[in-house]
This record gives sequence, structure tokens and C-alpha cells, in this order.
Amino acid sequence: MVKAGSGERPVVVVSACLLGQHCRYDSKTIFAPAVLSLSKLVTFVPVCPETGIGLDVPRLPIRLVETMRGIRLIQTLTGKDLTRKMRSFSRAFLAEHKADGFILKARSPSCGIEDAPVYDELGQEIGIELHGVFADEALNRSLFALMEDEEGLRDPGRMDSFITRLFAPRSVTKKRRS
Ligand code: SF4
Repeated sequence: MVKAGSGERPVVVVSACLLGQHCRYDSKTIFAPAVLSLSKLVTFVPVCPETGIGLDVPRLPIRLVETMRGIRLIQTLTGKDLTRKMRSFSRAFLAEHKADGFILKARSPSCGIEDAPVYDELGQEIGIELHGVFADEALNRSLFALMEDEEGLRDPGRMDSFITRLFAPRSVTKKRRS
């Protein structure tokens, strides 16, 4: 088992709503005990990409939509295309915050790590699931970025694997230096 307490804590960028922050589109607070249980081991850097680009709480929902210009992040009721704004916010945030890992909200068009549903322009799900735009930018920076979502961390095996991988590179670095 990986030992914490070396003095250096891994930095984990986390979807702010998973820490109970009041930033969801429907203004509801969610509770993610598995995520909160890691607060003794890591330093969390919370981010809400949607409020980060200036959207309010509550707000009209946004979705990944397949369009003639590819998959876009759209506020469906207004038709606003937020893709460029979200990519630009995400790049700036990720350049500023060096992360050892990410814990992001499942199924979000901004944060989802693998399961954000994609819709057609008529509002029908088209059966494809992708990374949200923020997660996509994190993966663009490193294909090997360590990522989990709150649903994955409910599985003890995935939680253990996440913690092990989070601490493993630090152990290797220490060995090489000594
Ligand atoms: S899923 Fe991401 S964008 Fe949505 S409220 Fe949570 S942190 Fe904000």
C-alpha cells in the first residue's frame, strides 16, 4: 500500500461540485464521499469550468452536440456555442495548475472523462459518449493523465489503483534521486 505522509502531497484537480461547492447548473449540491475521503492524502485544486467561463448558478444546461462543424459544446436553448470559450479557459487553467491527477464529474459535457453523452441538433442522444471539453483539454496536454470520476472511485479496486498510480511516480523519482 502506498504511504502518504512524506510531506509532499499529490495535487489533484477536482470538479468543484464533487467537493460540495454550489456550482451545478441546477444549483443542487451533490455529495461524493469517496472523493472527500481522499482529502487527507492529496491537495485538491477545485475547478468548475462552466462557472469559470462565466455561466451562472443556476444556468441553462449545456450539451455536446454533433454539428456540421464537428462536436460542439452548445447551450441548447439559446444555441450559444461555448466550445471556444471552454477550450480557452481549460488551456489557461491547465497551464497554471500542474496536476498529478484528476477527479472529474461523470457524464458532464465539460468534466466527464469518458461518458458525456452526445446529442444531435434535434436533441436526440446519438449513442456516442466522449470526454467533456475540459477533460479533453487535460488529455490533450497528456494522453497519460491520471483520471477518475466519482463513480469509478466508488469501486474499491479502482480507488486503490488510482491512489497507487498517484503516488507511484513520486516514489520512483525519490529512488532515482537517492
Ligand atoms: S460537472 Fe464540472 S462544470 Fe459541471 S458543475 Fe461540476 S465542476 Fe462545474
